[in-house]
Amino acid sequence: MVIAETKRRDGLTALLRGLQCRCPACGEGRMFRAFLKVSDHCPACHEELHHHQADDAPAYFDMLIVGHIVVPIVLSVEIAFAPPYWVHAALWLPLTFSLAVGLLQPIKGAIVAWQWANRMHGFDAVPVKVASNPRS
Ligand SMILES: [Zn+2]
Repeated sequence: MVIAETKRRDGLTALLRGLQCRCPACGEGRMFRAFLKVSDHCPACHEELHHHQADDAPAYFDMLIVGHIVVPIVLSVEIAFAPPYWVHAALWLPLTFSLAVGLLQPIKGAIVAWQWANRMHGFDAVPVKVASNPRS
């Protein structure tokens, strides 16, 4: 008898491992083989990771998060000190760029891990053979 195994995957654990850019299944192997290139398989446990379809979601969440961090700080500084524009540019452009680049890989890792935990996009395509019930 062949049925699809639906063993529950812990979404929070997978998400935290993804944020650390680690394999969502074992937490040991690195998820990425390059800055934003996801490895086909985990080097530690060989879990298949090529099924992900993160697409534009990492960039979207990256802009959302960075915007919610930077914009309140910029407005607070403007209201409190009203510095010249060159000070704004000198402060916020490097901060915004650093945050956006620095958060992009962990955000993509979290999205891939979330897809893995919820068996999305082929992460659950392999049925598992189990012992058949002799009474059925
Ligand atoms: Zn692994």
